[in-house]
Amino acid sequence: MTKLVIHPELIEDPQILIDICPFGAMELTDEGLSINAACKMCKLCVRKGPKGAVTVEEDAVKPSVDKSLWKGTAVYVDHVDGVIHPVTYELIGKAREMAEVIHQPVYALLLGNNVEKQAHELLHYGVDEVHVYDYPQLARFEIEPYTAAFTDFIEKVHPSSILTGATTVGRQLAPRVAARMKTGLTADCTILKMEENTDLSQIRPAFGGNIMAHIKTPNNRPQMATVRYKIMNAPEWSEEESGTIIEQSIDPKKLTSHVEVLDIVKKPKEKMIENADVLVVAGRGIKKPEDLAMLEELAELLGGQIACTRPLVEAGVLPANCQIGLSGRTVRPKLIITCGVSGAIQFTAGMNNAETIVAINTDASAPIFKTASYGLVGDLYDVIPELISKVKEQRKAYV
Ligand SMILES: Cc1cc2nc3c(=O)[nH]c(=O)nc-3n(C[C@H](O)[C@H](O)[C@H](O)COP(=O)(O)OP(=O)(O)OC[C@H]3O[C@@H](n4cnc5c(N)ncnc54)[C@H](O)[C@@H]3O)c2cc1C
Ligand code: SF4
Repeated sequence: MTKLVIHPELIEDPQILIDICPFGAMELTDEGLSINAACKMCKLCVRKGPKGAVTVEEDAVKPSVDKSLWKGTAVYVDHVDGVIHPVTYELIGKAREMAEVIHQPVYALLLGNNVEKQAHELLHYGVDEVHVYDYPQLARFEIEPYTAAFTDFIEKVHPSSILTGATTVGRQLAPRVAARMKTGLTADCTILKMEENTDLSQIRPAFGGNIMAHIKTPNNRPQMATVRYKIMNAPEWSEEESGTIIEQSIDPKKLTSHVEVLDIVKKPKEKMIENADVLVVAGRGIKKPEDLAMLEELAELLGGQIACTRPLVEAGVLPANCQIGLSGRTVRPKLIITCGVSGAIQFTAGMNNAETIVAINTDASAPIFKTASYGLVGDLYDVIPELISKVKEQRKAYV
């Protein structure tokens, strides 16, 4: 890590450095001149201050781990009551691609109770080993026992990389496990690239999607990443099972939890935009909330759902679970029709993997047309009613 070092013997008047710092990070304390947390590392004090008074120093990089002791890619099997979340299969697909580069195995880590059926199901997706911790204490997700079993697996198997879905469970579990293992964790990766030396390039949008951050953990193992649902491709289900199931054991005392679950109240089933095959998206081109009715009608006719851009959520027109994009949901429908959406990167990052993208916008130079498979330059107030009547006509023709 880079740090600043103050050399008091070279400073005659501390006020000079205090005045140079534009962020108020230089301060005079009882111990002398020091740098506080407001420092932005702009290094003005180094360049403009008395010569040598403040220097930049790098902490020695700790010796690399012995990478030869860490092998394979593990995928955490995300499930609730035995129903495996589809992100698990998508991660297995990615892990298999990565395995081809390094010629190392793909593991699945399954924590639960009475999960034999699920373990076998995983063998239809090309996993080399399914490691199962089958204990009553793991019947439902609870952070302490799950963390204990997860870390036990890492200590025994030494996987070089670990992929976890960025689900409600994964987002709680992965950081805790990473902290236990004193390793890094990159959240919400959109691209993962395995290098031949087993270093994993973890790539994700940063600063509102304006840059793609490339993150590596070259001095630590395991390398941990979470990935959102619908980013990677799941492999085909194969008729034949392949790979082996390994029953892991752990001292049950390690699976105790300090959380007492008094009751479980099921939420009413949400219609998730992530699961829709067809989405009709409302953007700021919609003038009044009442006008959403025509988009809803089109969505219903096509057997789909309505979604929106962030400004509509901020205006309270639609709920947050309808928002597509970087700070919303990632979707991958068969068909998406955007209506009055400009196509900001923060929006398109959440939908550009859709199979067919149709964009309706009055402005021919709107960026959404760069992402769209089909573009309709026109007023949505003319185009949508026309589309609705065309779909209805087609329907009649088939009845
Ligand atoms: C950190 C950060 C995260 C963000 N996350 C998200 C996110 O997750 N999701 C998201 O959506 N945004 C997000 N944003 C906001 C994003 O940058 C854009 O501001 C937003 O996507 C714009 O929404 P819009 O396309 O609906 O509106 P606008 O950009 O205002 O576009 C409206 C479009 O409608 C067209 N139009 C107007 N009238 C009509 C009409 N009658 N018929 C047809 N077309 C018409 C216009 O030509 C224009 O292109 C984020 C921003 C930041 C900084
Ligand atoms: S690096 Fe910049 S912000 Fe930090 S102490 Fe020096 S002048 Fe201030």
